[in-house]
Amino acid sequence: MPKRNYTRKRQRQETPEQRVENTKHPKISGDAAACNENTASGSNEAIATSRTSDGGVSSSNTVRTDHTASGKSLKFVGAHTSISGGPQTAVLQAVEIGAKAFALFVRSARTWKCPPLKPENVEKFKQVLTESGIDASKIVCHGSYLINPGSPDDSVLEKARAGMLDEMQRCEMLGIPYYNIHPGSTCGKITVDECITRIAASANDVLAQTFSVTLLLENMCGQGSTIGGKFEELAAIIGKIDQAYQHRVGVCIDTCHAFAAGNDIRTEEGWNTLMSDVDRTVGLKRVKAFHLNDSMFACGAHRDRHAHIGKGLIGLDGFRWLMNDPRTNNLPMILETEDSMWKEEIELLYSLCAN
Ligand SMILES: [Zn+2]
Ligand SMILES: [Zn+2]
Repeated sequence: MPKRNYTRKRQRQETPEQRVENTKHPKISGDAAACNENTASGSNEAIATSRTSDGGVSSSNTVRTDHTASGKSLKFVGAHTSISGGPQTAVLQAVEIGAKAFALFVRSARTWKCPPLKPENVEKFKQVLTESGIDASKIVCHGSYLINPGSPDDSVLEKARAGMLDEMQRCEMLGIPYYNIHPGSTCGKITVDECITRIAASANDVLAQTFSVTLLLENMCGQGSTIGGKFEELAAIIGKIDQAYQHRVGVCIDTCHAFAAGNDIRTEEGWNTLMSDVDRTVGLKRVKAFHLNDSMFACGAHRDRHAHIGKGLIGLDGFRWLMNDPRTNNLPMILETEDSMWKEEIELLYSLCAN
């Protein structure tokens, strides 16, 4: 089978946020998507999802990731890759861009009705992963944007929990250790505390029905009625999760969201302040993954729009602190930028390392 170029093959790869924004409601935000079930109804087949059939992917296309700059580094940089040909496609694309980590959806992020994973695709994923040299501990699943684990509406909440459970079970089938979600939104109908209680109850519900996957709560930019703009809110959710599941709860830090929420990580002092805030609230031990995105909007703007690394308002310095901080060692660090520059962005990030 001829070598397939998964970066160029797809006509358009959107960032996870763009996938939401480029719906029939182009101005809708992730917050609104989680509060409006109607955004789920139109399944846009142009978006790469697990619903497409096995693309005839050959595992012989894989090569070990051992790149000059990244080979011996304790940093594990990658990107949110595509599952357009089944979950195994995400691994192949990660290899192609020189990633040492990757994120993926395990079903369509934009529709509720998804066929189950095909057993042959599960096997293929595991086989291709073994051949890739990418450590399974560096894979993060990103949950569907339709899921609002803190929904004020009981029937929507039930649907959200069923969706989370299905996605977490898919993670367990595929051997993916982390399942990352946006914590939720009050939709302007309940208090922050009520929403946090609902999110924690959702977490308890799905953690009770799974056995190995770790649930990661992502920090948000503090836009609108979303929960998670402050690490205190993530800590409050974690505090309400049953003791029995505490070892399966963590946090994913998104650099764009943190910056837009008001953490000025452009300076070393600002970066260290963020790290100590994280430690004081959720605890550094809870941090299991990073999303590496520059920001199109200013620090404190509470707007979530990702920019390529070094091309946004964070700039290279913010990423230099991150890439040289031992506290980020051994954690998957995932680009959620538009896919055309991933290879260059990964090389750029490794070039920021002092040695
Ligand atoms: Zn993110
Ligand atoms: Zn974002």
